[in-house]
Amino acid sequence: MKPRDLVEIKIFDTMERAQGCPICTLINENVERLVDTIFYELVNDPQIRGDLRSSGLCKRHTEMIEKYLKHHPELGLLGVAIIYEDLLQNQIDLMTQNSLDSMGNKGCYLCEHENEIEKTYLSSFSRIFSETDGLNLYEKSNSILCLYHYYKISTVVDEPFAKGLKSIQHAKLSNLKNQLSIFIRKHDYRNKEPFGKEAAAYKIVGALMAKPVNLSIRRNSKWQIWKNSKER
Ligand SMILES: [Zn+2]
Ligand SMILES: [Zn+2]
Repeated sequence: MKPRDLVEIKIFDTMERAQGCPICTLINENVERLVDTIFYELVNDPQIRGDLRSSGLCKRHTEMIEKYLKHHPELGLLGVAIIYEDLLQNQIDLMTQNSLDSMGNKGCYLCEHENEIEKTYLSSFSRIFSETDGLNLYEKSNSILCLYHYYKISTVVDEPFAKGLKSIQHAKLSNLKNQLSIFIRKHDYRNKEPFGKEAAAYKIVGALMAKPVNLSIRRNSKWQIWKNSKER
């Protein structure tokens, strides 16, 4: 199957190299690129500062930012200090105006970005999995959709492609389950066989089963609206 646009080029490449969910991989990489761009050149950008102030940041993403900066010391810590100072000043101002309680209703700037990216990729993956060639590509690839994204895709792909996708997903999950069984079996003290690729299966399984955090309820309701609107 030949990619029809730049998004598909990226998707096919990710399906080939990702060990876990290609959609989660693409979203994570995209958010990391945004974080990198913000701290590399947009710390003082009024638009970004305003968006961050009005949306805020969730716990998961502040942890992600700090982890990213730790692994990219070239970005320094001045940017994060400037952004946090601005966000904190905003909270102090809200507290002064007795409107700090509005914080509970806030989303997260990076979660909102994730939602947008996710919609784009879900739409492209749905299109790819609505073709036999696309399903064949997925079957042969190393990647496995996480349970969350499999559910999302399977509800929008029409029969018989949904059935085909289910059978591929079932086989991929069964294969992973077998790898876990082999890993468990090799722990027997009588075993002489060395550990192989099955030693990494638990990590892939953990990521596949993990449910989205924080804004999952909001995301699901948004997904329903998006799904019903058929703007895909
Ligand atoms: Zn996923
Ligand atoms: Zn977030």
